[in-house]
Amino acid sequence: MENCIFCKIIAGKIPSTKIYEDDLIMAFLDIAPINPGHILIIPKEHHTGSSTIPEDVAGRMFRVGSRIGVALKRALDYDGFNLHLADGTCAGQVVMHAHLHIVPRGAEDGFHWNWRQLSYADDAEITDKAQQIIAKLKI
Ligand code: AMP
Ligand code: ZN
Repeated sequence: MENCIFCKIIAGKIPSTKIYEDDLIMAFLDIAPINPGHILIIPKEHHTGSSTIPEDVAGRMFRVGSRIGVALKRALDYDGFNLHLADGTCAGQVVMHAHLHIVPRGAEDGFHWNWRQLSYADDAEITDKAQQIIAKLKI
């Protein structure tokens, strides 16, 4: 897609530090890493969000992402990794070409997800929320 920075990376029109590439996906270093070695995996075909990515491509992204996470642990001595995908501006998506972050993590790396834990009022609210979601779920 024209004017998409990640489509330009795939086309070789702007530089990137490539880690992996195959027929469906490409992985490269994030230029502003949470920790050194932070990697992005993108589908070669442009998709703005994650829900339209075909199953074989999405599966490849997850599989390769996990294997890259293992490589990050072995190569750079990390303890673990986060797989993160922001879908939508309110979710923190800045580049509108879907991408999976592989964020290498160390026990003492000083980075914390700002994760809150709300609670439901009662069982009825839980059941109601579940039913609303199931009614709209299209696989
Ligand atoms: P997100 O907030 O999930 O959309 O993340 C976008 C990510 O893309 C950020 O972590 C940026 O640092 C990264 N990024 C933006 N431009 C480039 C680029 N040219 N090469 C590598 N990473 C990039
Ligand atoms: Zn694109």
